[in-house]
Amino acid sequence: MYSSTILSYRRTDVLMVTPWFAPIVWDGTYNIDILNAQFHQRNVRVGLTVFAIKKYTVFLQRFIETAEKFFMVGHKVNYYVFTDRPNDIGNISLPEGRKVVILEVPSYKRWQEVSMRRMEMIRDYSQQRFIHEVDFLVCVDVDMRFSDEVGVEILGDVFGTLHPGFYAASRDRFTYERRKQSTAYIPPDEGDFYYAGGYFGGTVPEVYKLTNYCHNEMLTDKRNGIEAIWHDESYLNKYFLYHKPTKILSPEYLWDNGYAVPQFLKRRRFVAVPKNHNEIRNKRALNDSPKSRGKFHR
Ligand code: UDP
Ligand code: MN
Repeated sequence: MYSSTILSYRRTDVLMVTPWFAPIVWDGTYNIDILNAQFHQRNVRVGLTVFAIKKYTVFLQRFIETAEKFFMVGHKVNYYVFTDRPNDIGNISLPEGRKVVILEVPSYKRWQEVSMRRMEMIRDYSQQRFIHEVDFLVCVDVDMRFSDEVGVEILGDVFGTLHPGFYAASRDRFTYERRKQSTAYIPPDEGDFYYAGGYFGGTVPEVYKLTNYCHNEMLTDKRNGIEAIWHDESYLNKYFLYHKPTKILSPEYLWDNGYAVPQFLKRRRFVAVPKNHNEIRNKRALNDSPKSRGKFHR
């Protein structure tokens, strides 16, 4: 049996709790056996949403294979795969309690639009379907692989993830939207953390609220002929500024091996798969431009 004192399950090298008392999840701060027992008692069902539009279907197999090794092992999981190419995705059979659900959705021409429209589609399916099938949603990028355990410790009402490029940066370095004309605008003296667009979640009603907000703000901007600098990520950061997450995932949960690994990063649980941005995002290769290099390396 475990036993704990006020000196167990603590970290002194990183922030463990936000000023609004939301835990930040790091290795060594929780007991997974206690949490697994709690979530098994509730018979929790988790939906993992992932988009594989156009050429991004190539990432799917590795994504699911590694998730089967590391994601919510021992719990009920539905993989919700949004794709415009259902025929490219073979039948994937999984053990009892886990399944792949293919959702056929439209594709958009610009990769920015593909990325942003995820908010709308997650919103719509949350209301129509997910609410009847799962308790929590975890919404992530597909160009990723799991390389260590990601379990129920991440679940909560509404959670965001610290972007691996900005966890140590000061506020003035955060790449929030800084143009006042955009609904995603964040004033220079506001903002808690810089959250990554590629990893958020929570209960289905909370994810509905989050995605509905982000999609509506994006539509308003579109009507005004503006698009936030980092697309869905900018709207997400705006949402979390005024609707604080109840839990925050450390960069253990979203890493890119292009970054030097700091001492306090004990695990790399979900890691970006390197990709050639032009090759994968466009029909024909274009000249590389700063904005085509992606969100991780600015
Ligand atoms: N995406 C997709 N097809 C595309 C572009 C994007 O399916 O043509 C989805 C995919 O799930 C991807 C996510 O949108 O992981 C975000 O785009 P991307 O990973 O390219 O952004 P980055 O992580 O490089 O900023
Ligand atoms: Mn990505």
